[in-house]
Amino acid sequence: MTEFRRIGQHEFLARYANSRPPVRFYVLDDDGRPYPMKALWAASFIPRIMPRHFNSSDAIAGFKARGYEIASLPGSSIEDASAVLDFQAHEGERYLAEVIRIRRNARIVAEAKAHYGAICQACDFDFEEFYGERGRDFIECHHVDPLYGRDGEGEVTTIEDLAMLCSNCHRMVHRTKLCLTVDELREMIDKAA
Ligand SMILES: [Zn+2]
Repeated sequence: MTEFRRIGQHEFLARYANSRPPVRFYVLDDDGRPYPMKALWAASFIPRIMPRHFNSSDAIAGFKARGYEIASLPGSSIEDASAVLDFQAHEGERYLAEVIRIRRNARIVAEAKAHYGAICQACDFDFEEFYGERGRDFIECHHVDPLYGRDGEGEVTTIEDLAMLCSNCHRMVHRTKLCLTVDELREMIDKAA
């Protein structure tokens, strides 16, 4: 806390949180001043750890055990962090649903994978390089011209109609109804980097 006050939030986050601002949780000092929780928890370790090495709940438990109060600031309203952690939702029950599936062809997906290689064409992510053996040959196949746009009869798909994308990029191109092209996503990634 002393270091935070001395160097300021900007420099503190750069040192302990890769410059990422806190998503939600702050630690309050005796005067009620807020400090970014995960960065502060990371800063309390020697040797240094980074926020990705622990969960918010670890830090909350740690600070609470030491008598600190935690505040959660979603948007502008302050609420007790424990209320957020106590929130419960009922999930997991089974239900029957009627759905219409779109027919896909596994053979052309396999051919496309062999043709393009299992590397993301938007961000160059390589599952095997990152996950080792478990990631070998894993990649998602993206239809450049989305299948849901085809009528009920179906149309011919060629290798050129397919692109290899990692799971993140695949979700990102489909995040809007009108999906992005692979080039548009690549441009976006380059800009963000
Ligand atoms: Zn990707």
